[in-house]
Amino acid sequence: MKERASVVVEEYLQVIYSLLSEEKPIKAVNLTKRLKSSPSTVHATLSRLQRDRMVKIDDKKEITLTAQGLAKAEKLTRRHRLVESFLCNTLGISWHEVHHHAHILEHGLTPLVEEKLAEFLGFPDACPHGTPMPGEHNRLPENTNSLDGFIVGDEIEIINIGEVLEESIELLKFLQEKHIKPGKRHHIREKTEVTKTIVLGSKHGTATLPYDIASKIGAIKC
Ligand SMILES: [Zn+2]
Ligand SMILES: [Zn+2]
Repeated sequence: MKERASVVVEEYLQVIYSLLSEEKPIKAVNLTKRLKSSPSTVHATLSRLQRDRMVKIDDKKEITLTAQGLAKAEKLTRRHRLVESFLCNTLGISWHEVHHHAHILEHGLTPLVEEKLAEFLGFPDACPHGTPMPGEHNRLPENTNSLDGFIVGDEIEIINIGEVLEESIELLKFLQEKHIKPGKRHHIREKTEVTKTIVLGSKHGTATLPYDIASKIGAIKC
């Protein structure tokens, strides 16, 4: 197993990569929130990443990845999504739990094991939550919209559950119970501006989601 420090660096690179794919620009405070860590810890780790030329921090304190930081983050992210696929599709571990287990397991994988795993899984193009593997060719369908962007009556198919939502096992469990998973179809039953909630309906029943969660779930109109 790797020493703790390099595990931390790997986690930061993945989180920075994930945040950059969701929102730009990002600052240290975004990391503090996402990692539920203290500002001083985040600051110390960012300095280390900067020293190792993995991240750049500009005058406005905005964080970006250097070319080598990006390459490393993509590799780590791919590995994470592969491990999730293995745990979910091969070992049959619940969809809502695999992120948590992958997070612990992934740091111990050698490049050979990772390569063999990818081959064994048939080179999946997305993780079980629908987020594409890093790389040019793997993208969400062009017409993907966030759930809160649809209107009442729209028939939709879920494409992906935003990575930030994977952090909550309870939320993923709820989404699983409500069949809000990639490939599942629903229709928009209600949208209520006052409460900022959206109600989905399907043959499995209804589910109410607040806009801030709906905005992190991708879907297409069918
Ligand atoms: Zn994950
Ligand atoms: Zn995932």
